Amino acid sequence: MNSNQSDILFGSDGPERLEGRAICLHLPCSRCGYDLRGLPAMSMCPECGRSTSQSLASAIDPTMHKLPPLLSPHRVGNALLILGILTLLAAFSVALREIVMTPWIGLSSSSFAGILVFVTTALAVLCGVIGWIPVFQLWPSPADAGNHTGRRGITTLAIGLTIWIVGCLLSGRFNPDAMLGPSLLDLLFLLGAGIYLFGLKQIVVQVGARSRVFRTDRIRRQRIWDLLIGILFIALGVVLVRIGENIPPPSGGSTIPFTSTFTLNGQSVAGLGFLGMAIAWVAILLVLVGLIYLCFNLAWVRSALQCPPPRLREYLSPDQSK
Ligand SMILES: [Zn+2]
Repeated sequence: MNSNQSDILFGSDGPERLEGRAICLHLPCSRCGYDLRGLPAMSMCPECGRSTSQSLASAIDPTMHKLPPLLSPHRVGNALLILGILTLLAAFSVALREIVMTPWIGLSSSSFAGILVFVTTALAVLCGVIGWIPVFQLWPSPADAGNHTGRRGITTLAIGLTIWIVGCLLSGRFNPDAMLGPSLLDLLFLLGAGIYLFGLKQIVVQVGARSRVFRTDRIRRQRIWDLLIGILFIALGVVLVRIGENIPPPSGGSTIPFTSTFTLNGQSVAGLGFLGMAIAWVAILLVLVGLIYLCFNLAWVRSALQCPPPRLREYLSPDQSK
């Protein structure tokens, strides 16, 4: 079925001739998963007819083997995945807290509100504190990658983490005047989250180059830039909410869009505030979904670091024809 079998394949140790050699490691067919071990390197999958050289080409990762090795790939892989999970958990906690603290939704008057705000704040802070463990585990390793971007990334990450912890602690109180929820103090932990993600980006770009699926997947790969833009929009929403809550009610009805006011629990709130709230919530949802994708991406990177694919030379038996 596949006539364009090439005789030579490029691995991390240079070109390898396939003629006269056999596959000597477990190699699932890239189409049907059949184990091709024992078959000649220049043959077809007996189940689906795909050429074995194509399956070989999709299993090896010469680019990864050409990158400078990390000091402790296991530790770096684990640390990155733990950071990803902590980030997701912290973001969910803060989002849940914002829901509880929005008087407009009505949860804030329930008896559980105080406990919920305490628990979600504590969880967000705890994630930030536990985050120091993987940060310390990362410290020496990405720096071996040849330049100092790794070390700079870790420093940025740590600064962001500190601002996040302080910001979460400061903003964890009810604001009796706020009708729509967020307070300007939220900008502090958003700033921390932004700096943290910027540092994480520098590390993930370097370390992630060692995962073939991370390098090449264009659909499921989460760009950290998009998360940073999402955080900017959340901050914009927070600012608009505050402006909206402080606009005095216009005398005789305003015709300017978003400045006309609504009365909420006896207080007037400008439409601008509602616009801000909508922007913030859409951005929060997008960031949460993005963070789920980021966790999957970091799991790929971890598995590539912990079980790197064999080199082409290791897959092939010695040339019998020599
Ligand atoms: Zn097959």
